[in-house]
This record gives sequence, structure tokens and C-alpha cells, in this order.
Amino acid sequence: MPKVIYPWLQSQWRELVKQHNQKRLPHAMIFAAPEGLGVLQLVAQLSQLLLCKKPQDNSACGQCSSCELFKAGSHPDLHNLTVEDKKTVITVEQVRGLISILSETAHQSGYRIAIVQPAHLMNKASANALLKTLEEPGNDTLLMLITDRVSALPATVRSRCLIVNISAPSEEVALDFVQENYPDNTKTDLVAVRMAQNRPLHAVDILKSGTLQERQDFFAYLQGLSNKRLEPTSLYNRFNDKNKLLVFCDWMLGLVSDCEKHQAGIAMNKLQNSDQHVLIEALDKITIEQRFHWHKSLLETKRVLLSSSNINPKLLLDDMLLNWIAFFR
Ligand SMILES: [Zn+2]
Repeated sequence: MPKVIYPWLQSQWRELVKQHNQKRLPHAMIFAAPEGLGVLQLVAQLSQLLLCKKPQDNSACGQCSSCELFKAGSHPDLHNLTVEDKKTVITVEQVRGLISILSETAHQSGYRIAIVQPAHLMNKASANALLKTLEEPGNDTLLMLITDRVSALPATVRSRCLIVNISAPSEEVALDFVQENYPDNTKTDLVAVRMAQNRPLHAVDILKSGTLQERQDFFAYLQGLSNKRLEPTSLYNRFNDKNKLLVFCDWMLGLVSDCEKHQAGIAMNKLQNSDQHVLIEALDKITIEQRFHWHKSLLETKRVLLSSSNINPKLLLDDMLLNWIAFFR
């Protein structure tokens, strides 16, 4: 049998199945959702259902020849378009290849389905090449684009698709899922869920990887700087990792938000970094103006990191840390 649909995707699933049963499923859809919600699985389940030869109770049978091909990852009418190895975009050649395949008749005399993800990694030429197919894909053809940056898609693409917006579930739903699937971490699971901004699969990744320890080390370092126990050069002095710096930026942005909330009288246990009360209390003394500039400079650092390839992460990190130290000197 197919996998179950994640609890937070149930309502979208029911809606899609209803549209399919009423034969009004759009032929081109954009699933706009943050990563870590398992949307690709939802899209895959829908594909299997549409391709299945003997669906039962709005579910693929899991046994017919079509389901067997699906499970083997070799269904000839299901096409996955994603960034190829050593490439950074979905190329126009890939899109042309897809269009050519979709113009042929279906191998299994049913649906022809294309999944494009992450769709915002189509470059301009790729997106343009896809426009006509999005408009008139042909009978029983379904194009599903997945992205966590829908605004990065050209307006011409967006206007030709139905946009299915999916957001993260409540903290309660995310926490239930994490505790059920990763039960040995009662102390840290709430921290992970808040770090993941309620994206359940992302929270599980955080718990499984060394991310929590790394975050603990980073915050301990910040604390050492704040009480003058450490000098800024004493750690991270050979730092040269752009992606890690983005993570540090996000952690610091979490602190900014917690600082603001705590100064406004919100209880510690409601904050994202509720386990970091020493740090957050130390930040109580900074002024609104300082906090505002801190926030602004972190966003600027993030913007630079995301938009430029020619940067020196160590310099940006130094700036970030000097800013931090200035609060406590
Ligand atoms: Zn089947």
C-alpha cells in the first residue's frame, strides 16, 4: 500500500482527490511550500493515484503493473525534472527534453505527469521554454511544480498555474509528529520544532544531525563573548563556510526575535530559544535602537550571502561578532 499522507497535508490531499474525482484537477499546479513539509511525497502520492490502474477508496492499489513501475521509480509516464549533478539550474535542454516526451502518447494509456522541483531553479530560458506546455499541456497531462520560493518564479509561469499554498502546521501538530517519530528527545524536541519553524520533517532532521550541539556550541561562544570570557579571535578563526554562516545568521535572527519578545514581557518558555535564557536575559539591556540595527545588519549579511558568490565569510562573521560584542562593552 502507498505511504500515509502526513497529518498536516491531509486537507490538501482530500481537496486534490476531490478535484480529481470531479474531473476538474488543473493541468498545471505550483505547490508553494517551505521545505521540510514533505510536499514532494504528497505530489508523488497524487501521481501514483492518477497512474494506478485499479485505484480503491481514493488510494492507489499498490499492486497493479502501473503501481509496480511507480514503486520501482521507472514509470514511463512519470517524469521528474530536477537539477542534475554538478549543475546549479534546471537547463533549457532538460525542459525541451520533457516537452518532447510529453508530446508523445502515454505509454500506459493514462495520465502523463511531470514533476519539476525546485521549480525556481529553472533559469529564464528554461521557464520560457515551458510556457506553452503549461498553457496547453495536452489531454491527461499534469504538470506539478514544487518550490519554496514561488515569488522567484516568473509571473508568466505563475499566471499559467494554479498555486497551491501550503504552510507549516501548528507547533502542536509538528511536536506531536516529532515525538511520535523520534521519541527519545523530550528535552530538545520543542527546541528543534521551533528552530524548524514548525516544519516537522526539518525538525526531525535537526534532531538526527549534530545541529543542536552545533547551535549549543555557537550560543556558548556568544555567551563567552558577552561575559568577556572569550576573545573574538579565540574560535572560528579559520572559518570559511558560507552556508554555515547563513545558519549562524538565522540563529542570531532567532535571538533578535526572542530579545524583542522578552523585552515586551513574553514568557521565556514561549520563545524560540527558550533553552537559552542566560543569553536572552543578557540581551534585555540592549536598546530598541541597537536591536533594530542588529536586525537590519543581519538581514543585510544574509542578503549578501545569498546574492553574491564573491564574498569572504570570515569577514562577515567577524562583523557579526564585533556587533555582538559591542552590546556588552
Ligand atoms: Zn495500482
